[in-house]
Amino acid sequence: MRQFKTIDDLDLAGKTVLVRCDLNVPMKDGAVSDATRLERSALTLNDLAAAGARVCVLSHFGRPKGQRVPEMSLKPVAEAFAEVLGRPVAFAADCVGPEAEAVVGGLKDGDVCVLENLRFHAEEEKNDADFAAKLAALGDIYVNDAFSVSHRAHASTEAIARILPAAAGRLMQAELDALAQALEAPEHPVAAVVGGAKVSTKMEVLGNLVAKVDLLIIGGGMANTFLHAQGINVGKSLCEHDMADAAKDILARAEAAGCEVALPVDAVIAREFKEGAPSDVVDARAVPDDAMILDAGPVTVKHLAERLKDCRTLVWNGPLGAFEIKPFDDATNELALAAAALTQAGTLTSVAGGGDTVAALVNAGVHTEFSYVSAAGGAFLEWLEGKDLPGVAILRAA
Ligand code: AMP
Repeated sequence: MRQFKTIDDLDLAGKTVLVRCDLNVPMKDGAVSDATRLERSALTLNDLAAAGARVCVLSHFGRPKGQRVPEMSLKPVAEAFAEVLGRPVAFAADCVGPEAEAVVGGLKDGDVCVLENLRFHAEEEKNDADFAAKLAALGDIYVNDAFSVSHRAHASTEAIARILPAAAGRLMQAELDALAQALEAPEHPVAAVVGGAKVSTKMEVLGNLVAKVDLLIIGGGMANTFLHAQGINVGKSLCEHDMADAAKDILARAEAAGCEVALPVDAVIAREFKEGAPSDVVDARAVPDDAMILDAGPVTVKHLAERLKDCRTLVWNGPLGAFEIKPFDDATNELALAAAALTQAGTLTSVAGGGDTVAALVNAGVHTEFSYVSAAGGAFLEWLEGKDLPGVAILRAA
């Protein structure tokens, strides 16, 4: 049973629905250069319009910090949205007050409008109750379709949901269902891959995962810190020497929780951090003093790919190596391919997320072959840390 309402639970005909979207699309020379986010947001808007709702889109754009910054206007985004939706999209030059009221008041059933950047008002990021009340006064129902900003308690993600009947939009619904399947009620055995540069940025992620997963695969620069904590020389590798005790603590907690931790047993090393730098494969315990580990080695990857065959669920955040530089993307690519093949064969539910992870899976060519890939960066990490995101918690309470 879902713990939150969706738009299927609401009576929408003739109602004005305020939909929080994430319209933070890339722009070039004043025009939208990648409309993917708009195309994804269209799912919810089309369903609402088809149900006879009057649709009013709320979003932030960039970081104007409470100032009216013309380059951060949502007007060009609203124009691009009209093309994506194949219908007119009205635009209000402010998100509250008379201009917003006039545009929203002019909507007919099935019409869509976009309101100007919420963050032109400092109250938005302060989760200000009066500002939320002004937004709420524009509509009858609130729909949150912006998981990527729901780790922030802002007026348009949190306070507003205390005022109006609230539900999850289609993207939010898909995201929450996928995340629940991955960690809240997963099929065991569950594996997690945590890679990336530094242990210090992922301590809470590791702490949460050791209590929830059966196999924790640690890769990337952060694996070096774990090797070092075990007394293994990592040469000139990226390594947070001051995090050795923290790494040991994670290993102890994993052992106590019955979570197996897999570290690289071999490594790809180089003397320079650049494309095509001469590289070698060595045992992880035999890294020369003047070399750095830039990727997990082939024996490690083969072993991990074998282990994934016995797993039913996989959560992935962070690359296994310096994937932006060839050939140090090999381990990430190989393991991602193995996970994608198991997913496609139906034995593995695979959920991945976080900024670099999406780029790494795109590089591996498998981002559409995982069960779910979250485009949310900070929100996905906070979820992985086990935190209750304010914008999601309030939907559950609605
Ligand atoms: P994160 O943002 O924490 O997921 O870290 C991603 C970054 O970690 C990428 O830019 C990778 O290049 C980097 N990275 C992964 N493995 C290594 C490594 N062995 N040495 C240096 N950087 C690495």
